[in-house]
Amino acid sequence: MSDCLFCAIVAGDVPSDRVVETDDTYAFRDINPAAPVHVLVIPKRHVPTVEHLEPGDADVLAACFATIQEVARSEGIADDGYRVVANVGRHGGMTIPHLHFHVIGGRPLRWPPE
Ligand code: 5GP
Ligand code: ZN
Repeated sequence: MSDCLFCAIVAGDVPSDRVVETDDTYAFRDINPAAPVHVLVIPKRHVPTVEHLEPGDADVLAACFATIQEVARSEGIADDGYRVVANVGRHGGMTIPHLHFHVIGGRPLRWPPE
């Protein structure tokens, strides 16, 4: 989708620090990390938010979670644990409307968030 920052990152038009890439997903470091490990996992195909997912998107979601596992293992946080977050819309604090999963870890995390 034109005008989407994360589509531009997938296309390589905006530089990013790649962690994992598969046919359908891309994982890269968040530019403003909230913890020692903060990676964003996105489907390469533009899906705006969780609200826009449809039953036919099961494969892309499975691919995202397989990449999340791969990120956690390669970043060394799988054993201690980590958090996966998808913000949705205004109240969720979403700022980039291309579906993404924050993978956050490397230190103990408080729960619940505010
Ligand atoms: P959201 O608030 O939409 O859930 O998360 C968007 C995330 O994208 C934020 O954590 C923000 O730091 C990150 N971000 C925004 N612009 C860029 C960018 O140009 N490059 C990278 N790597 N991350 C970005
Ligand atoms: Zn996009």
